[in-house]
Amino acid sequence: MGYLEYCSHCGSKNQYGFIDGNNRYHCLSCNTIHYENPKPTATIICVKNDELLLAKRAFDPGKGEWGLPGGFMELNETLNEAAMRELKEETNLDGKVKNILSTCSHYGSIFGDILLIGVEMVVTDFSNMRAGDDAEELQFFNLNNLPEIVFDCHSKFINQYKGNL
Ligand SMILES: [Zn+2]
Repeated sequence: MGYLEYCSHCGSKNQYGFIDGNNRYHCLSCNTIHYENPKPTATIICVKNDELLLAKRAFDPGKGEWGLPGGFMELNETLNEAAMRELKEETNLDGKVKNILSTCSHYGSIFGDILLIGVEMVVTDFSNMRAGDDAEELQFFNLNNLPEIVFDCHSKFINQYKGNL
């Protein structure tokens, strides 16, 4: 059964096409429009003494490349809670959100459309840092000597952070 092939309201087959101003899956039997929305992520900027924390990704997309830590928000959590949870899962660090830096939209990823939210976090104790399941390796890089960054939106956040310094 394909994604949104059937109406979750009445079980009839959905149509994909123009309705109410946009192309959407919708049901001709019960008139339900099945809206789809981008997934918000918390994407974390964490700096220690002018060095930026990057994670080498353990999985695709971008396996083996460097990017910012972070991940999708889950239900029943705030952005700050998502950022703290993701930081803990990926780096074992406890951090606090200092600032929401910016947002960046990415369309048509393997996860669908994503709204990345760049979050600046402060960590006071790095002694327990350890790569989680999603990262092969964690490393600090001088902000002026970074490796190639896997996603354009991550680069955008990094450049905005540097521009604010
Ligand atoms: Zn229906």
